[in-house]
Amino acid sequence: MKFYIEYDIPYHSAVTPSLTDLNSDLPVLFPYPRIYPEQYDYMCDLKKTLEAGGHCVLEMPSGTGKTVSLLSLIVAYQQHYPEKRKLIYCSRTMSEIEKALAELKALMKYRSEQLGIVEEFRGLGLTSRKNLCLHPSVKREKSGAVVDARCRSLTAGFVKEKKERGEDVESCIYHDNLDLLEPHNLVPPGVFTLDGLLRYGEQHKQCPYFSARRMMSFCNVIIYSYHYLLDPKIAERVSKELSKDCIVVFDEAHNIDNVCIESLSIDLTEDSLRKATRGAHNLERKIEEMKSSDEEKLQNEYQKLVEGLRQADEARAEDAFMANPALPDDLLKEAVPGNIRRAEHFVAFLKRFIEYLKTRMKVLYVIQETPPSFLAHLKDLTFIERKPLRFCAERLTSLVRTLELTNIEDYQPLQEVATFATLAATYDTGFLLILEPYESEQATVPNPILHFTCLDASIAIKPVFERFSSVIITSGTISPLEMYPKMLNFSTVLQESYPMSLERRSFLPMIVTRGSDQQTISSGFQIRSDLGVVRNYGNLLFEFAKITPDGIVVFFPSYLYMEQIISMWQGAGILDQIWNYKLLLVETPDAQETSLALETYRTACDSGKGAILLCVARGKVSEGIDFDHHFGRTVICIGAPFQYTESRILKARLEFLRETYRIKETDFLSFDAMRHAAQCLGRVLRGKDDYGIMVLADRRFQRKRNQLPRWIADAMTDGETGLSTDMAVGMAKKFLRSIAQPLPKTSRELSGGKGKDSWSLQDLENVQAERRSRRGEGGHTGRDEDEDRHHDMQGINNQNGTGNGHVEEIDRALEPTSNYMRNGLDEFDEGIDDDELMRMEA
Ligand code: SF4
Repeated sequence: MKFYIEYDIPYHSAVTPSLTDLNSDLPVLFPYPRIYPEQYDYMCDLKKTLEAGGHCVLEMPSGTGKTVSLLSLIVAYQQHYPEKRKLIYCSRTMSEIEKALAELKALMKYRSEQLGIVEEFRGLGLTSRKNLCLHPSVKREKSGAVVDARCRSLTAGFVKEKKERGEDVESCIYHDNLDLLEPHNLVPPGVFTLDGLLRYGEQHKQCPYFSARRMMSFCNVIIYSYHYLLDPKIAERVSKELSKDCIVVFDEAHNIDNVCIESLSIDLTEDSLRKATRGAHNLERKIEEMKSSDEEKLQNEYQKLVEGLRQADEARAEDAFMANPALPDDLLKEAVPGNIRRAEHFVAFLKRFIEYLKTRMKVLYVIQETPPSFLAHLKDLTFIERKPLRFCAERLTSLVRTLELTNIEDYQPLQEVATFATLAATYDTGFLLILEPYESEQATVPNPILHFTCLDASIAIKPVFERFSSVIITSGTISPLEMYPKMLNFSTVLQESYPMSLERRSFLPMIVTRGSDQQTISSGFQIRSDLGVVRNYGNLLFEFAKITPDGIVVFFPSYLYMEQIISMWQGAGILDQIWNYKLLLVETPDAQETSLALETYRTACDSGKGAILLCVARGKVSEGIDFDHHFGRTVICIGAPFQYTESRILKARLEFLRETYRIKETDFLSFDAMRHAAQCLGRVLRGKDDYGIMVLADRRFQRKRNQLPRWIADAMTDGETGLSTDMAVGMAKKFLRSIAQPLPKTSRELSGGKGKDSWSLQDLENVQAERRSRRGEGGHTGRDEDEDRHHDMQGINNQNGTGNGHVEEIDRALEPTSNYMRNGLDEFDEGIDDDELMRMEA
C-alpha cells in the first residue's frame, strides 16, 4: 500500500522548516495490503526523529513488524529527500541480520513493482569472515579467530608485494580478483542477503567479505552487527569511512549497555600471560632474523615512527592485525615515544610489562584499583611511564606488519596485553582493575584473574552519538525507556512505547505469587531452597504441562538454581509426574548440547505431544531464539532473574552508576531483571496470529509490574496478578478455551469497517482524516498525536477484549478471593525489605 505521512514541525528542533518541507508529505510504500496501527505510529515517530535530527528510544511490541516498518519509512525518507542519507542498521545475531536483509530485499522489489522503475539502490550486510569466507581450506576452520588470522596471512599487503615481486607466496584468489574490478562496483546495485552475497561471490570468484566491506561507502543501507560500530577495535577499521549524516539504528537494543561494556573490557589470566611471553620471545627471534636478512625494513619502520603513528599508518589497511582499542578521539596523534621506537626496545618493554603483571598476579586477596593507581604502582616498581603504554596497541600492530608475520593467532595473547596497556593508560575514570586470586569463594588453589572492566557504557557509544545526527534505539522490550538515555548519557527527541492492538486477546500475562497451598513462591535467596517453594514451583510446572498444548518454555534465573531445583524435583518425584505429559529438555552452557536439545524439543512439538524446555534467562535461548506458534504456548519465569549481586564487577558498576548517573542500585537491578524477564516472555509471541500464556512466578514480580513493557503491562489486569497456582491454571484453561474458538464474525463489523488490529489503506486514510480534523487543519504541532493515538486505541481496546470484555468477567468471578489474597500479600510484602532481599540475591 502507498500512503503519506504529513510533515510535522519538529518540536525539539531549532531549525525553521522551509516551505518545501511544509508542503511535502512523505510518500511511503509499505509492502503489505494492511498495516498495524502501532506500525503506523512507529513510522510517524521515526519520521519525527529524522526531521528533528536527534536520537530516540522506541519500544515496539514483539511480532508487530518492527523491522519492515523501520525499513519502509527510512527507505522512503532516503528516496524522497535529495540529500539521501545512508542507513546503518545494527542487529545482534547473524539470523537477525539475514532476516532484515530479506525484508529489505522484499521491500525494494515491491517498490520497483509499484514505481515501475528499478531504483538505484544498494543494500548489503556484513558479518564475520567465518560466515562469508569462500577459501576452500580457510572456511573449514572452526574458530572465527583462526579464520581471521589465516585470512590475514593470505591477504596482507606484504603478501601482495611479494607476489608482485614474483616470489612464491600463497594468497587468496578470491581476494586478488577484487583488485581486477572497479572499486566502486564490486557488486551490482540491488539488495544482497548474506546467502545471496555468498552465491554471487562463488559465481564471480570474489570474496564476499571484502566485497561487502569495500562497498560500504557506496551502499544506501548497511546491515551488520553492533560490534562494527561499538567496538573501537573493529569500528576504527570497518566503519571509519561512514559519513556523519548516516541514520543509525540499533535494533534489539535492550542489552546495548552490556555490549558497550564488553567491547572495552578485558580479562588476563596467568595462562594468557605465559602465552604472551612466548609471543614476545617469538617476536624477538623474528626481529633478529629480519636484522640479518633485511635490516632496511626495520630502519624504515623506525623512521616512520619518528614522524608519528598516524602518518606511518595513514590508510589504515584492511589487513591490520588489530586496531587501537581506544576511541578515535582519545588516540594520540604525536610521535611514538623514543623508548619503544626500535623494535627490540619495544619487545623488551613489553616483556618487562608482562613480568610486572605476573608478579601482580601472585596475591592471596582481592585487589581493586583504578587505572591511575595501577599506573603509579607500575611506575614505582618498573619505571614504566604512561605514555609508551598508551602506544602499545598501535606499536605492536606496526611491528607485526613490518615483520610480515603470518601465523597471527599465536600473537593474540600478546595483543590482549597490549590492548590492556593502551586502555589502562588512556582512561582514568569509568574503568576498574579487579584482581581476583581464586576462581570462587570456596576454591583453595589459586587461579588468579585480572579483570580490566569498563563500568561506564556511555564511553563506547559516545562517539556514535557525537558523530551521527540520528541514532534510533529500538526493541520489543526496552522499558523503562528513560533508563537508556541515563545510562548511555544522551538526550532524546522522542521516547515512546506502543501498545499492541489485537483483534482479540491473544496472550495472557499473569503474575503468580503463591502456590496452591498459599505459600509464597520466590527464587529469593532466603527461601529459594525451601522444600515448600521448590515443590510449589514443581506443581506449577506440572499443572501447566497438563493443560498446555505443544511446547512450554521455562526460564530460571541461573544455571546453578536450575540444577538445584531440577535435582530437588527429581528427589520429590515431581519430574516423574511431568514426564507423563511432556518430554523434558534442558539448556546447558555447552552450545552444541543446547542446539541438540532445541532440535529434539522442536521435533517433540511437531509430533503433537509437545515438550518442556528448561533454560536460563540471559542464556542463549532467552535471546534470539523464537518459539512461535506451537513451539511455545506457555512461557514460565520461575523466579525473577536478578543478577548475582556478590559479583565484584557488578558491585563496582552499581557503585559507578549511583555516583555518576544517580541511578540507585536497586533501580538498576530491578530494571535489569525485568528487561530479561520481558525478553523471556516475548519469546512465545512472534506475531499477531500467534497466541500464548506468559507466567511470571515470583512474589517480587508483583511490585515490578509497572516495569514491564507497556504492551505486556497493559494486557495484564489487576485480577491477573497476585495469583495462586490454581487460580492461574483456571485462568489459563479459560483463555485456551476462548482462543480455540473462531473469531466471531461480527468482530470486524463491530469496529465500523475499520480494522482493530490492522488497517487497510481506506482505514488508514480515515484515521488520518479523523486525526487531522481532531487537531484542526493546519495545526501541525505533533503534540496532539498522543491524544489521537489514545483515542484510536481506545476504540480498539473497547472492542478487542483486552483488559475489558471477557477478562472483566474473570475478574468479577475471582474478585473476592483475589482481593483478599492480594491484601494478604501486600501485608506480607510490607514486612520484607525488597531491596535488602535483592542485595542478598544469589
Ligand atoms: S579473502 Fe575472503 S575468501 Fe579469501 S580467505 Fe579471506 S575471507 Fe576467505
